Amino acid sequence: NKQLILVKRPEGLPDASTWTLKTNPIPTISDGEFLVQQYYVSLDPAMRGWMNDSKSYIEPIAIGDVMRAGSIGKIIKSNHADFNIGDTVTGWGGVQQYAIGTEKTWYKVDTKLAPMPMYLGTLGMPGMTAYFGILEVGKIKAGDVVLVSAAAGAVGSIVGQIAKLKGCYVVGIAGGKDKCNYLKNELGFDATIDYKSENIFDAVKETCPKGIDVYFDNVGGEILEAALSRLRMHARVVICGAISQYNNLEEVKGPKNYMSLLVNRATMQGMIVMDYAPNYGKAAKDMGQWLMEGKLKSKEDIYEGIENFHKTFIRLFSGDKKGKLVLKVIE
Ligand code: NDP
Repeated sequence: NKQLILVKRPEGLPDASTWTLKTNPIPTISDGEFLVQQYYVSLDPAMRGWMNDSKSYIEPIAIGDVMRAGSIGKIIKSNHADFNIGDTVTGWGGVQQYAIGTEKTWYKVDTKLAPMPMYLGTLGMPGMTAYFGILEVGKIKAGDVVLVSAAAGAVGSIVGQIAKLKGCYVVGIAGGKDKCNYLKNELGFDATIDYKSENIFDAVKETCPKGIDVYFDNVGGEILEAALSRLRMHARVVICGAISQYNNLEEVKGPKNYMSLLVNRATMQGMIVMDYAPNYGKAAKDMGQWLMEGKLKSKEDIYEGIENFHKTFIRLFSGDKKGKLVLKVIE
């Protein structure tokens, strides 16, 4: 069982020495447990936060532990009556090839309905984040001007498409022409901003001349600042993430334009996807339906080999990926 072990707390962008790859015996299972042969591991920006020794919405990963990650695979041994050999299951398996599953943290999925990697993206945690973030926190309605950052990513690409489905005018922010073309031509966004080559303040003004009703923030920093400067009356700002700050070595400065919330009677609200867990079923049903009807497109960017974890993981921060980043760990 190849396992990726966290050996130190990184400062800034993690380098390869942050982890070590160990080969250990395949674990044995106790009563009520099952053994999962993992096929794919999910690579998420949140993993960077879990490596810090600081209080957050979840405990930090301990030094010496397997790197925490969402995963999907098949049951190859079982001591649980409802989980059978051959079932496909998803849960918190970590970056390793075999994981012990329990009914508490794993659930079954149907690979006849969607391929495995999609259950880590659009039909998994990022898709749920997009769904509840834009619908329940963003409270979009037809005609709203919706701006979303990291728009070509796992969460952002679904946020923008759901907003389009609901009749909004959608502007996506992404790094590079290729991603912007993808958003416009393949996902149906109304307008895009390439934050790497355009002045973000000017571009937000140009693409949202009447201002913004909902800003879905995945990145924080200057892009958040630019969005705050163009809020409309009663705008909603969804704080989903702040990837531009996850590897920061300097203290993060708060937004200067926050008085715009006051002037425009706007709200800014943080969200954590896990709070919506009781309603994941409804979201999966809606999104499954939209996928089948061709109203929603899902993209997974898949790399191979557990030994390639580090160079694949840092694609999240360089942006050298499109859609949901996934690592295949089965050999
Ligand atoms: P993505 O698939 O969007 O990958 C990250 C993307 O962020 C990259 O592709 C890159 O795209 C962009 N990016 C990286 N660095 C910067 C930067 N400095 N400035 C602007 N953009 C940058 O990741 P996810 O969709 O999985 O996650 C998106 C956000 O949602 C993250 O902040 C994550 O932490 C958050 N999240 C929050 C959850 C919650 O419950 N609150 C749950 C899940 C995710 P580009 O090429 O366009 O720069």
